[in-house]
Amino acid sequence: MYDLVIIGGGAASQSAAMYAIGKQIHFLMICEKLGGRVEDVAPTEHDFTLGKMLVHYDAPDAQDEEQHLIGSSAVHLFERQLTTQRGRILVDRVTAIERDGDGFRIVTEQHGARSSRAVIVATGAVPREPGLPGKGAAHVRILGHAATTHTSNVAGKIVAVIGMTEQALYATAEMAQLARHVYLLTPTTTLLDSPIGAALGQLPNIQTLARAQIIDVVGTGAVEELVVEHAGRTHRIGVDLAFVDSGLQPRSNLVQSLVELDEQGFIKVDDQNATTVPGLFAAGDVTDALGEQVLIAIGEGARAAMSAHRYLLERPLVRQANR
Ligand SMILES: Cc1cc2nc3c(=O)[nH]c(=O)nc-3n(C[C@H](O)[C@H](O)[C@H](O)COP(=O)(O)OP(=O)(O)OC[C@H]3O[C@@H](n4cnc5c(N)ncnc54)[C@H](O)[C@@H]3O)c2cc1C
Repeated sequence: MYDLVIIGGGAASQSAAMYAIGKQIHFLMICEKLGGRVEDVAPTEHDFTLGKMLVHYDAPDAQDEEQHLIGSSAVHLFERQLTTQRGRILVDRVTAIERDGDGFRIVTEQHGARSSRAVIVATGAVPREPGLPGKGAAHVRILGHAATTHTSNVAGKIVAVIGMTEQALYATAEMAQLARHVYLLTPTTTLLDSPIGAALGQLPNIQTLARAQIIDVVGTGAVEELVVEHAGRTHRIGVDLAFVDSGLQPRSNLVQSLVELDEQGFIKVDDQNATTVPGLFAAGDVTDALGEQVLIAIGEGARAAMSAHRYLLERPLVRQANR
């Protein structure tokens, strides 16, 4: 029986594991692979296709590494520490988490089941497939959750942002600070009356086409033109760069019948990263907490581990004295 099982191998899980080592918790980390999304780092700054990304945090000038923290470096540091810990990491896929008395039973694909008094779920989220039409669609960049990473590329350019997530709206505002012109192409009007939606309406270099439908993405080697149906007319919009954000799909299916999820499937957590089930904590992109970024996942992982540690201390295992 473990005191803590951490599920996932990304930024959140690794930081939880580092915290658990510090507190000498008897724990096991189970992950499909160590590294999570951070391992999908792109070879160049210009390669932002789905599943490939450059993990920068708050990097207005990507050339100047002295002045910004690269989240992936922190995760790689954790990784080096963790791989020296014998018996702490089990590489496998968790297929089920079940309640077992006061604790949990964690079932894996290849190594049977493990029991634990507490669990941290940090299984991440994946970008939803944007499903854009046309040959140029492969060159539309996934926004991810760090528009700042892209801002140095958009200076003086004509840019399109496709999507109706909060992230897409904030990214539009951020890019408009440097780009010559930003087109926001949205399928609905849902968030346009929010504070950020209203702010976009005040900026002269942003043009919003709400209820727009992308008919074609034209371009070989780069996006050149977007063919868009809007208000009964077909528009051909020439752009230098195009970005899309279709939101994230949380990998929360393991606990969907155990804990409360929000309407999009993110695990609801409180300010201690506790879920609605005592002893079950969650951290990182899979939670409904604000901000899907490496450094935020690291913070959440540590907080979930701290909360799990407190939970364990509040429930001491009292050993019988020898008679
Ligand atoms: C395109 C893109 C660009 C991004 N750009 C940036 C950026 O520039 N800067 C930034 O800070 N952040 C960026 N992010 C966000 C950042 O990558 C995430 O916030 C962060 O990696 C989340 O860490 P995590 O530990 O929560 O999840 P993940 O890194 O996704 O890790 C989840 C882990 O859980 C494992 N797992 C899932 N299910 C199971 C299971 N059933 N059994 C065992 N293991 C399982 C996975 O294999 C993985 O190891 C970007 C994200 C995307 C998609």
